[in-house]
Amino acid sequence: MFDAAGKKICPLCSGVEVIVKYENALYDDRYGYRGFYSLLKCRSCRHGWLDAKFTSGELEKLYTDFYPRSGFKIEDYRPARPVSGFSAWLDGAMRSAFYHVPAGVRVLDIGCGFCDTLGYHAARGCDVYGVEADANAARVAEKYGFKVHIGLFDPRIYEAGFFDYVTLDQVIEHAADPLEMLSGVSKILKPGGAAIISTPNSNGLLARIFGKKWLHWHAPYHLHHFSRESMAAAAGKCGLELERAFTLTPSEWIYYQQLHLFVRPEEGRPAAYWSERGRCGVIAKIALKLLPYFHKTRINHLFTRAVDAAGAGDNFLFFLRKA
Ligand SMILES: [Zn+2]
Repeated sequence: MFDAAGKKICPLCSGVEVIVKYENALYDDRYGYRGFYSLLKCRSCRHGWLDAKFTSGELEKLYTDFYPRSGFKIEDYRPARPVSGFSAWLDGAMRSAFYHVPAGVRVLDIGCGFCDTLGYHAARGCDVYGVEADANAARVAEKYGFKVHIGLFDPRIYEAGFFDYVTLDQVIEHAADPLEMLSGVSKILKPGGAAIISTPNSNGLLARIFGKKWLHWHAPYHLHHFSRESMAAAAGKCGLELERAFTLTPSEWIYYQQLHLFVRPEEGRPAAYWSERGRCGVIAKIALKLLPYFHKTRINHLFTRAVDAAGAGDNFLFFLRKA
């Protein structure tokens, strides 16, 4: 976004103090899409965003040829199961927005994947709806009778004020225009309804420690990195209010971060582990063998719980209320 003088401003809070955090230093270090990107950051709300513009043709190529399509089979469908107890706490299992939706409400899950979240809600007496870009979801939806819109989220499909809850799990960071997405969410929520959002936290401890090697920059797929302040600003512009925000991070994420440090390739190449086409050296191969054993010690889990307790984990949960 630009101000009248053509100077870059924050797309979320319209702040004018924009710094270049990483200049042409981020790239697709998982699947090997070509190109270097800069990360811009707003000094006033701490929002980060990728300085990237894609045509719709480029986006289609990016998501079709590079982003992994799952080899999903309809027999693989399992409704998500409730989580509770000590091991769920240790794993950070409640990291997903959908787990925070109460029973017996009308809910829309944007980016519902293969309907496992819809199955979870349906088993708890909810009236469930989903949106999913991957057309494979249609087969599950048909078989189990879920109301899923295949394609991108379009608020015009639903009546205004229709839903008690809308959830977005690891979705909003992919949106080119998150304000447009949140305005749409706000429109279809009832007064008093809530949106629950999970998304990576680029102001957390691990992003500080690992810098441009942080796993969740995930350029150029992740375009927006929210802070508490930028989510509050975004919510306010869309008729919503940020009610609660905290970090709750899956303990597995630090395991993925550790192995990412070993397999991270040069620009333009796919990474071993993340891509079937990826190659890596002997040391990385040994690390890939040993890191699962280290993860079993639960040191990663305890570390993640401590970082979340300090509010500096890798995964945000945001609760937005419609007035
Ligand atoms: Zn800002």
